[in-house]
Order: sequence, then structure tokens, then C-alpha cells
Amino acid sequence: VVERLIVARYDDRAAALELADASDLVTYELEHIDATAVEVIAERLPVRPGLAALQATQDRLAERRFLEEQGAAVAGWRAVGSMKELEQAAKVIGLPARLKASFGGYDGRSQARLAEAADLAGAFEALGSGARPLLFEREVDFAAELSVVCARSLSGQTRPFPTTRNRHDEGILVESVAPAPVAPEVAERAQALVAQLAAGLGLVGLLTAELFVLKDGRLLVNELAPRVHNSGHWTLDGCDTNQFEQHIRAICGLPLGSVSMTAPAVAMVNLLGQGEDRPARLLGLAEAAADPAVHITLYDKRRVFERRKMGHLTALATTADEALALARMHVVDQHVGALQQLVEQVAPFPAAKIRGDRALVGVETEVKTALLGIGLVSREGAARAREVAVGRLNLDYVRAEVGEHLRAARGG
Ligand code: AMP
Repeated sequence: VVERLIVARYDDRAAALELADASDLVTYELEHIDATAVEVIAERLPVRPGLAALQATQDRLAERRFLEEQGAAVAGWRAVGSMKELEQAAKVIGLPARLKASFGGYDGRSQARLAEAADLAGAFEALGSGARPLLFEREVDFAAELSVVCARSLSGQTRPFPTTRNRHDEGILVESVAPAPVAPEVAERAQALVAQLAAGLGLVGLLTAELFVLKDGRLLVNELAPRVHNSGHWTLDGCDTNQFEQHIRAICGLPLGSVSMTAPAVAMVNLLGQGEDRPARLLGLAEAAADPAVHITLYDKRRVFERRKMGHLTALATTADEALALARMHVVDQHVGALQQLVEQVAPFPAAKIRGDRALVGVETEVKTALLGIGLVSREGAARAREVAVGRLNLDYVRAEVGEHLRAARGG
């Protein structure tokens, strides 16, 4: 709730100064804003988490340099500005690799996977042909992805939230669980590392680090964000103080709040949109809301499209596996609801077929919904659907499976 709202571009300095004149303190909530707009504010009054934190995290190359200065391990990398440099990097550092834009990427956008030499030219062109230098980075064969959201107060006290384990699908966060089901020593090392990085940036507020843990327990830093993070949304329901409140406490010079958990394990599953751009329709809310261990947060987005983050659901339980199973089940319920409607819609068309015990819906944009229809629908109903889908919420597996059935349905 605010008295005044100033709407302007991220690089509008006049608007930045107008904001400064009306404020005692300024904060930002994403690292893609223009650093010069923040600079003009920082000359007049405190900007937290801070200008240095912004500069070091909005440019992936600056971020890599900062991490190396701090002695934090990262995947082998190089800055590349030409095809020649890219070919050289591929030769020296090796493939498979990722090519990432240095500015502006998030949720897996603005990056490409390079599996073999033939992929280099296309990826280079798609990412702007080196107009701005790109980050070439070796692909990491990680055991798991972790993240830590860490607060740092005005007096320099650091307080990390419990380490979280995350699962992504094509760069987008699908689910998180805390405390991360990894050796406690690894989880503590991750917290200490992120606290060190927060101090190294001199930031006041929150720093989130996304990490890869390797099979031997080593940690590599993938990405930093000077802000609250999707992988910390579980703290809304699962911690004494949530990440949003902790940010406000830190930047206002208040004591940091307790980060004790409200349950032994908390899982969060993102509610991601599916299909074409259309008005959003909420399904499965009543069922999820009836469960006292489940909490739903919606982002009030009126339209839905493929992979859009529409909200998230958290589940509290006694173990990580239970929490994840419960959260997935309720998300799956939404898909099952969508699937049942979809099946009714497409049933008159020949592309919708049921083979054996498997329902198949031949609408490609709804593949992700269809995937949850494997082994279900008309015969066994929603209860069985849920059981099968919860056991198989592995998108890679399911994609392959659905792809095969779609091909078969088309007769090719
Ligand atoms: P990013 O936008 O850099 O955070 O990347 C999004 C996701 O892509 C990560 O969370 C990983 O799942 C995957 N990814 C990014 N970089 C690498 C890498 N070097 N090796 C393996 N997976 C990666």
C-alpha cells in the first residue's frame, strides 16, 4: 500500500530522482534495472541492497569475476565476443556447455545449450552475435541444485535461511524443498559461502545464490540475485520470518528475524501455466485449500500461457519426501482437473485416443497436461490418475513417453 506510485522505465533518471526526493530509503527488487538510475539515487540517499551488489549481479561476466575474487568455485567459463572466441572456448573448455547472455536473462531465457560443435553458430546468432559479450560455461554434471537466501543487516550481521534443494525444467524452477535433503555439512557449507558472498558485496538486504552440488560434495556457484527469490517463497509459510519481511527488516536497520522453520520439512511447487495465451482459469483450489498442511499463493495474473508463473503451493510435513509428495499431489490435482475438461473437449476428434490403459490427448500445446493423463482418465478416474502422476512427475521421462504416444497417434 503506497501513497504515490511512479511508473517509469528502468533507465529514467528523472523519475529515479523524483522517487529519491519522496523517500527516506530506496530498495529494488530485481537486478535488471539500470545501474545509472540507481547511481543518481545513491548520491542522495541510501539504496539497499546497494549499487555494488547490483553491478556485480546484473552482468553475468562481472558476477563470475566477483565469485572468483571471493574464492568461490564456478564452472569453467570464458567471455566470448566473436565466433572465433566461441570456437576457441569450446575447444579449450569443452562441450557440452551453456552460452548465456551477460545481461537480462532469467528463467532459462537468453541462454542456449551447446551439445556439439554444430550448435555453436546458431546459438551465437540467437544470442545477438556477440553485440554484447556472452558467457560460455561448461555444463555441470551436478548431483543436485541448491540455493540459499541470506540476509545481511545494516550492522553486518548475516543470517541465512535453511538451504533449499531445487529442481528446474529448462531453466525454470519447478519445485523446492527445505531443509535440502543433503548431508548437513554440505547444507552448512552452502550457508556459510552465501553469507561470505553477501559480506563481500557489502550488501544490506538479501542475497540469493543458486548453487550446484557435485557428487563429491563440492559446491559451484551458478548465479547470484540481490533479492528475494522464487526458491525462498516457501518461507512465507515455512519460517518464523519470511524472506520478504527479512528484506524489509534488513534495509530498515531493524533486527533480523528468526529463520526457524515452522515444520520439519517444507516443499514448494510452482503453478506454471500451460498452453496458449488465454484468460486464466483456476482449478483444484478448493481441494488444496481443504488441507491444513497446504498453503496457496496466487499472483493475480489474469492471463495464462505456457510456463508462466501463476502462483505457488507449499506443503508442510515431517520429511522432505512427504512434503514434496503432498505439494505435487495438489498441483497434479489441478492438472487432472484440466485434463478431464480437455478430454471432454477433444473426445469427438480422432486424434484423441485411448490405447491400453493409457489415455492420450493429441493436442501438442497441452502435452504437459496430457503427460499427467498417462495411465488414467476414462477407466480409472482421478484417484488413479493422481497416484500415477505423482509417481511420475519427472518431466523428462514423461516428455519422452508422451512424445512417443503422440507420434503413434498421428500414425507416424
Ligand atoms: P541460470 O539462468 O543460469 O540460473 O540457469 C537456469 C538453469 O539452467 C539452472 O538452474 C540449471 O538447471 C541449468 N544450468 C544453467 N547453467 C548450467 C550449467 N553450466 N550446467 C548445468 N546446468 C546449467
